[in-house]
Amino acid sequence: MGVSMINGETAVVGLFGFPVSHSLSPVMQNAGFRETGLNYCYVPFPVREEDLSAAVRSIGALNLRGVNVTAPHKEAVCPLLHRLSGEALFLGAVNTVVRGEGGELVGYNTDVEGFSYLLQQNLAGVDLQGARAVLLGAGGAARAVALSLSRTGVSSLAIANRTVSKAEALASLLAERGALDREKAEVLPLERERLEAALQGTGLLINALSADPWELGCLPRGGPFPLAAIDLRYAPSRLPFLEWAQGGGAAGANGLDMLLGQGAAAFTLFTGEEAPAAEMKRALLEAL
Ligand code: NAP
Repeated sequence: MGVSMINGETAVVGLFGFPVSHSLSPVMQNAGFRETGLNYCYVPFPVREEDLSAAVRSIGALNLRGVNVTAPHKEAVCPLLHRLSGEALFLGAVNTVVRGEGGELVGYNTDVEGFSYLLQQNLAGVDLQGARAVLLGAGGAARAVALSLSRTGVSSLAIANRTVSKAEALASLLAERGALDREKAEVLPLERERLEAALQGTGLLINALSADPWELGCLPRGGPFPLAAIDLRYAPSRLPFLEWAQGGGAAGANGLDMLLGQGAAAFTLFTGEEAPAAEMKRALLEAL
């Protein structure tokens, strides 16, 4: 169902964030609705921080089926909802809100599923069971990655961050919630010597920083290199971090499949139908 087909029965879903003009979610979700023939339409809503609670109330007032939530509202939206999924509670962040039959607003976080999808699509041939992982970053995306990794059975996880206290808080959160024993998590600053040591024998290295670790100068030029490297960013097309890792023989993937995986999971929460992932990915690639 494309925009030209909107009629009196069209179900509206959308995105709350600020800004939203850069978001690829409208292109991805509307391609999914078109492909499946579902009478849905996905609309970006630029919502300022001071307007978030009015916007959340409008979900019922405007009969929206649900919304995705992006920066800067992922945390602030939590107390405005009736109920949170286990993952949203764990992460303290919501990226998808669904309005139930009785008007109940339920918050989900599909980023964990998104990262698991990225692993399946790109690293199915790399055995991560019992592998050691190094995670660069301790922000919202890193928290979702850490939870996903704790479920893949990694043997240990080193979390490196500029603000070390945030990495410490993430390691403690994983332990408190029973996701990863505290002794299996190591915390370190984002410094080249420390990363050089942490990378010895590492299976998987993930960049969840909003900057490029290679450009920050915190990676050892000559290795050691991980078996596989993932950069959660999907633009620009040239990612020096991935070039460094691939130059050292690592398998590599950018974050596009995480975006797709979290979007496909949201599509299913909105519609109850399986998402047409291939078509949604085609739309993303065209838009990039
Ligand atoms: P965030 O919560 O703001 O976290 C940003 C992280 O980057 C923090 O660890 C921060 O360290 C670090 N950082 C930022 N600037 C830095 C600098 N100059 N030097 C060193 N460290 C720096 O952001 P986020 O939501 O986690 O997003 C992180 C990245 O993941 C972004 O590039 C985003 O586009 C990407 N992402 C991708 C997907 C996907 O679907 N593929 C989903 C979510 C996010 P401090 O804690 O020290 O500030």
